[in-house]
Amino acid sequence: MIGKLEQLKGEAIAELEAASDEDRIQAVRTKYLGRKGLLTGFLRNIVSVPDDEKPLFGKRCNEAKELLSVRIDEALAHLSSGRKGDLLTREKIDVTLPGRVVRAGRIHPVIQIRREICGIFSAYGFSIVDGPEVELDYYNFEALNIPKDHPARDMQDTFYIDDNTVLRTHTSPVQIRMMEKVRPPVRILSPGRVYRRDSDVSHTPMFHQIEGLLVDTNVTFADLKGILTAFLKKVFGENTTLRFRPSFFPFTEPSAEVDIRCVICSGRGCRVCGQSGWLEILGSGMVDPAVFVNVGYDPEQYKGFAFGLGLERIAMLKYGVSDIRLFFENDSRFLRQF
Ligand SMILES: [Zn+2]
Repeated sequence: MIGKLEQLKGEAIAELEAASDEDRIQAVRTKYLGRKGLLTGFLRNIVSVPDDEKPLFGKRCNEAKELLSVRIDEALAHLSSGRKGDLLTREKIDVTLPGRVVRAGRIHPVIQIRREICGIFSAYGFSIVDGPEVELDYYNFEALNIPKDHPARDMQDTFYIDDNTVLRTHTSPVQIRMMEKVRPPVRILSPGRVYRRDSDVSHTPMFHQIEGLLVDTNVTFADLKGILTAFLKKVFGENTTLRFRPSFFPFTEPSAEVDIRCVICSGRGCRVCGQSGWLEILGSGMVDPAVFVNVGYDPEQYKGFAFGLGLERIAMLKYGVSDIRLFFENDSRFLRQF
């Protein structure tokens, strides 16, 4: 009877090996190991086995079922891993194909300069403040010591909304608004868009300015020179040479234009610096006492200095851009370079 069992086991294994898909493998399981399966039912033959062989026969029956069950599980596992392999072969990723480039955006060069300058002055203790771009004539001109008939208005011709409202021509009105609100000490930096009726290779009707204001007791022109020198060396390099040139602004007295040695020709003279060897960078000066009177500060008690510069001009010099209008054409071939 044990011989018959071995034969049956051999047939089952052979059928399993011939089974090529899951259905056929499950059919082998049902045929031999199911409730009425051939191996399951084979134990009934124990009645015709001699008594002394009965334990061995029972054991062999169980071993045969166990073996077939393990083989069936192995066959099924093999089948599913084979299918995964097929999938990998059919849907293989070709790593040699060129990728699809997603271009990252960039910070506009003018904004990069603005952030750099704000960072430098924040370290000096200046707060960054903002103000309206549509401004009252009073804040844009009169409070800054530029009355209606003042010739300085011609230098800053702008867009009028009505007789008393303009697009601001500089960020200076922010200084007036701040001084009306707070008492000294004042240390502010106001970056923003400003507007003038101008358009050529070095002027656009809209551009960006940054102005700084410091008011305190015992502020002198030496403080102005010290801070602006440190600032310009940070932006243009430690070896930058500066020149303070007397100038006129209605809201500062004395006033100075600040030039740096030309970064293109190192002072020998070139087209960019108009053969002078120097580049105008910013305007500055000690705040005119009349401005302090306008905001209610005592000019005997407080002194201060102010300065202003155009961000596009700094960006043009720093990055060697020859036409200011390039900054606003939004040509990505230009903007990608910064
Ligand atoms: Zn030059």
